[in-house]
Amino acid sequence: MQANEITPERLRRLADTKPGDGKVLSLFMNLDPSQFGTAPARSSQVRSLLDRAALLVRDEDGLSHGEREALKADLARVEQVLEGEVEAKGAHGLAVYSSRAANLFEVLRLGTPVDYDVVISDMPCIEPLTRMALSETWCVLLANRRVARLFCGTPPMLEEIALVEDDVHGQHDQGGWSQARYQRGIEKEVADHLRHTAETAFEQLKDRLPTGLIVGGPQELVGDLEATLHPYLAARLAGRIEVDVENSNGDQVLAAAMPHIQAAVRAREDDALARLVQGFSTGGAVGGLPDVLLVLQERRVETLLVDRGFREPGRVCPRCGLLTTEGDTCPVDDSAMEPVADVVEAAIARAVTQSAQVLVLDDRPELGPHRHIAAILRF
Ligand SMILES: [Zn+2]
Repeated sequence: MQANEITPERLRRLADTKPGDGKVLSLFMNLDPSQFGTAPARSSQVRSLLDRAALLVRDEDGLSHGEREALKADLARVEQVLEGEVEAKGAHGLAVYSSRAANLFEVLRLGTPVDYDVVISDMPCIEPLTRMALSETWCVLLANRRVARLFCGTPPMLEEIALVEDDVHGQHDQGGWSQARYQRGIEKEVADHLRHTAETAFEQLKDRLPTGLIVGGPQELVGDLEATLHPYLAARLAGRIEVDVENSNGDQVLAAAMPHIQAAVRAREDDALARLVQGFSTGGAVGGLPDVLLVLQERRVETLLVDRGFREPGRVCPRCGLLTTEGDTCPVDDSAMEPVADVVEAAIARAVTQSAQVLVLDDRPELGPHRHIAAILRF
């Protein structure tokens, strides 16, 4: 399975890592398999990334002697790891975070490439990962009386991650049993198979529960399958599909599941947009980037809604973290504001680390009047 290691929880943990006096070194490396599939290409790419990082550590303004020395040690550790064997199979990029002061060292595999390189800052640079953290996992569980298959992924990617095959007797293999007793025996075997299936699915998914689970199989069986699922998975049921359990491939399963996935996403967006309209009528919502940045700073956002593809340059206060669209000095503490290439991305990262719900909308006109971004407030 294409591992998405980037979850909102993981981002929150990273965002909470503050090294106090020290700095954090964040490095991002893209791994285009077609371009960097060979060891020599990969190795020269690692070399040039490390060279750029070394220059930045040497030349970055405003570092104390201690901070610079600590960053050199961080860089040496990163070098050791990147030049060794990195398990990057299936990944399209790597993010590496290192800070001796914060006792932090993490290598994350990325599902999509990012447009970042080397960053030295007071906390881990998580912005490149936020959109990945918001990508959802969907699963499809197929079962007949003998076989079960589990597919998982972020649409339009769906991969088979588990297979269950149980030795259930066929209808004709009677042995010495009476017909009735034999039939009860088979039914017990089928029930055992469904239980085995439900256990396998929960074992596979418990560490990262999917947004939704769709089930498929013979009509007379699928209700029993749903009833056997762990309550955590049963709570995520999002529809039934009819496909050939044993012979369908991932694309066929995805095609059958897609209408259910789209309907679920649409329903959640409709719900949030209705709450937004209600919020505007009661003063519980704001629209437009400047106002949204303000309520984020006040930690008042319950749900952030933003049109996909909306980007704006902006500013960030290095002292209090205030995000703005313009202005040279922070209105809170008079610090000189620093530029950020995309303040929308920074706002999304802020919302995720504040445990706000974030909805990135595709092809919906409703946010147009709010200039592509709006927030429903907690209070
Ligand atoms: Zn400030």
